Amino acid sequence: MGDMPFRRLVEYYERIEGTSGRLDMISLLSDLFRETPAEIIDKVAYMTLGRVAPEFEDVELGLGEKLVMRAISLATGFPLERIEDKVRELGDAGSAAEWAIENRATRAFFREELTVGRVFDSLRKIAAASGRSSQDVKIRTLSGLLADAEPVEARYIVRIVMGKLRLGVRDMTLLDALAEAFLGSRGRRPALEERYNAYPDIGRIARALALGGEDALSEIRMTLGVPIRPMLAQRLKSPEEILEKMGNRFLAEFKYDGERMQVHVWPDGRVELFSRRLENITHPYPDVVASVREAVGGRAAVLDGECVGINPITGEIRPFQELMHRRRKYGVKKMMEEIPTVIYLFDLLYLDGEEYIQRPLRERRERLAEVVRESEGVKLAEGRIGEWRAEDLERYLEEAVERGTEGLMIKDLDSRYQAGVRGWSWIKLKRSYMSKMVEPVDLVVVGAFYGRGRRAGKYGALLLAAYDPETDSFKTVCKMGTGFSDEELDALPEMLADFRLDHRHPSVVSNIEADVWFTPARVLEVIGDEITLSPVHTCAWGRVKEGAGLAIRFPRFTGRWRTDKSPQDATTEEEILEMYREQLRAISDEG
Ligand code: AMP
Repeated sequence: MGDMPFRRLVEYYERIEGTSGRLDMISLLSDLFRETPAEIIDKVAYMTLGRVAPEFEDVELGLGEKLVMRAISLATGFPLERIEDKVRELGDAGSAAEWAIENRATRAFFREELTVGRVFDSLRKIAAASGRSSQDVKIRTLSGLLADAEPVEARYIVRIVMGKLRLGVRDMTLLDALAEAFLGSRGRRPALEERYNAYPDIGRIARALALGGEDALSEIRMTLGVPIRPMLAQRLKSPEEILEKMGNRFLAEFKYDGERMQVHVWPDGRVELFSRRLENITHPYPDVVASVREAVGGRAAVLDGECVGINPITGEIRPFQELMHRRRKYGVKKMMEEIPTVIYLFDLLYLDGEEYIQRPLRERRERLAEVVRESEGVKLAEGRIGEWRAEDLERYLEEAVERGTEGLMIKDLDSRYQAGVRGWSWIKLKRSYMSKMVEPVDLVVVGAFYGRGRRAGKYGALLLAAYDPETDSFKTVCKMGTGFSDEELDALPEMLADFRLDHRHPSVVSNIEADVWFTPARVLEVIGDEITLSPVHTCAWGRVKEGAGLAIRFPRFTGRWRTDKSPQDATTEEEILEMYREQLRAISDEG
């Protein structure tokens, strides 16, 4: 097996640190690659990025300073306090390690020269150590390396192990250098980048090139279980700007506010989920796994989508922060019941052995619609293709926001899936404003909805209304299931029992069918994110826009029952309308 002295690699690192020009850096790196034996070129590539594995493998270094200082002390015989002082003095544990090796009293009689292979394998061992004795393993492995290191080698080992190499080399620079070393010129990078996008493992690409030249590249294909970097979007502020940039024929799609998910499906039903940062996030989302398996059964596919949390009772999309409670190791089942999800799929990247990323979006969307059987938990992102005018786009944006999304994603139908690129083929168009609801409101309880799962038989959400003195009626503004403790939710049925009706109270104006109705009596305090137009709630119906009322977005109970207020003292319809206008004014002031 080929190997090379670690000392040699470190010489390159020192020179790279000494250059500021990108071209000089590329030429140094390509010299390095030419000199490196093919068998270890992947290791050199990872280490140069300060890593020991491709991004998508869950192998993290990033050792804490405490632990590293103990290893330095163990390797050099200096007391820990002395090392701590040096780190403080030099401001960097790497430099402190270099000093300690240089100045140690006892030099090993026999020092084994470090090779790239040995350093890499030890670093992997350090990264992989887990469980009870892992600290011990990490310290001993590291101090073993340091004991054999020359001073400058120690400096770089410590920086890598702490996740702080910072040579300023990024993956695209490495691709440039590989193109120069193996394809004759930096200008050939696109050929590498294309394969890198399908399989984002720079070590694997370096190795293929070093062993088999350009021909070997064609063997690097998208692979189930290996996530590709997600395509990203640019941003514009207005429909007019969009039309200028995109022309007038494109796909406008709802932009859901949740967590990006790349879904890998095997023909035998296995499913894995990857985050925007390529972490494997299968574990916390068994519900997504099960529903995707149902929806795509029997095929090999890679899909792109956005997973949102929904309120199981109201069916409304929940704020992103609440979905983040799902990202946990323990208590997955409980969180799954509390925050059910829907995944909105918007792209198809791979199907039955074929890469789709080079194909136009038009075709990818069509195939996606054929492949996915929609269900409660899996839906296709809602969107429209057409000849757009600015007014239509503005209206569609409004509709998207009314339906609980963040806005629109505008997509070029002829574009390829550009992995990892924030380009102009996707453009996000959010509302030109985001406003805050500053004061809480006092609303009247007019109905309730039964809970599901753990909450079955109890109320999961309340239907709330504002008062209209002119007609002496109550008009709905939101459903609210957030902000209650478990005990408070448990107590609701009894607390409201006296007001319970088996039909809607005549003074309540509602387009929504509640499970249980109440005489308007109890008042509670609610804070929300903002007031939005609503296709269902009846408050201020038709006053701002035909066919729409006003609603409170993301309402939460503040914990205060306003027993001091009668329903006629609640916040009025007129006040809600005024708050909405106030909000618009605040926005136009800002802009
Ligand atoms: P941003 O994070 O603001 O740059 O917006 C881009 C993100 O929007 C993507 O990374 C996705 O997570 C999310 N997103 C939501 N809906 C869509 C959609 N229909 N198409 C693409 N991305 C979407």
